[in-house]
Amino acid sequence: MVIVMKPHTSQEEIQRLARQLEEKEKVSVGITNGVGCSILGLVGDTTHLDIHMLEMEPSVERVMRVQEPYKKANRKFHPQDTVVDVAGVPIGGGNFAVIAGPCSVESKEQVVEVARDVKASGAKLLRGGAFKPRTSPYAFQGMGLDGLALLEEARAATGLPIVTELMSPKYCEIFEEKVDLVQIGARNMQNFDLLKEVGKMSKPILLKRGLSNTYEEWIMSAEYIMAGGNENVILCERGVRTFETYTRNTLDVSAIPAVKRMSHLPIIVDPSHAAGKHWMVEPLAMAAIAAGADGLIIEVHNDPLHAKCDGPQSLTPEKFDALMEKVGSMVDLATKNGVKYREMYF
Ligand code: PEP
Ligand code: MN
Repeated sequence: MVIVMKPHTSQEEIQRLARQLEEKEKVSVGITNGVGCSILGLVGDTTHLDIHMLEMEPSVERVMRVQEPYKKANRKFHPQDTVVDVAGVPIGGGNFAVIAGPCSVESKEQVVEVARDVKASGAKLLRGGAFKPRTSPYAFQGMGLDGLALLEEARAATGLPIVTELMSPKYCEIFEEKVDLVQIGARNMQNFDLLKEVGKMSKPILLKRGLSNTYEEWIMSAEYIMAGGNENVILCERGVRTFETYTRNTLDVSAIPAVKRMSHLPIIVDPSHAAGKHWMVEPLAMAAIAAGADGLIIEVHNDPLHAKCDGPQSLTPEKFDALMEKVGSMVDLATKNGVKYREMYF
């Protein structure tokens, strides 16, 4: 961290601030005196220091970080890709996997039928919301624990591990026992109490990017989970808010190479929530794979017209099957060109 002092600050004041930082913050401070201006270089662990608090010192002009505030998630301290094992399905480090299923669990018939279909098409994990974060309190809120039980039935029927969203710390214990990959939704990406709790879980976490969050904020949320002891985090780009209203969100393809350079964690893409339109899922999925994504999460419904949630962006099992053919050849192509991607991340 570098502190630029205001022009013509006295040497006494510079020494006072340097000593204060060394004693209180346990960092070593080097002083460089230029013409009319001095800078302090802080070395050591500065992750706990608040830039804005330091800038409140009357003699300080500006404070800059030279190191990222995330450590456990940082590619610099962990150059090799992390591979997250989800109940025997590896994701990351060249292991590509597709998660598919309905937005919400609606009935046993629905979820088991969709699970069988997506498995036959090559999906490795089953998704399905039991607890739904809805904008309107009057909209379908999900089947709750009954929905979770149906997901377990679909897993028993197909062998597919299950992925579902956790919205409240009060269900951590149940999810720890029953769920294979615990999803933290976009709206809860910065629910720090929830992040701390899932940091104590042993199950891997799928952390979706918040609606309007930067890469650094997103990785800092992963850092919360990892700092709690759970290092099995998969990031998910699901589109962000922009001025464009044609699509539900705007898929940020740049997030894939950028986040891979910043972090060793796997990153998958959700083209369904990015587009909000079923016919756009395929091109966005192709773009994600070409950019180096480690997987996809796709909404599939056996009757999208009557879906209780997100029907317009859901693929029918037939459309999903056709997509999976293309996914396979695109992954082969991206793998063939993989060396180039790896070089980019360092
Ligand atoms: C979902 O996966 O159904 C969902 C609600 O996603 P997001 O949190 O990305 O909006
Ligand atoms: Mn959905």
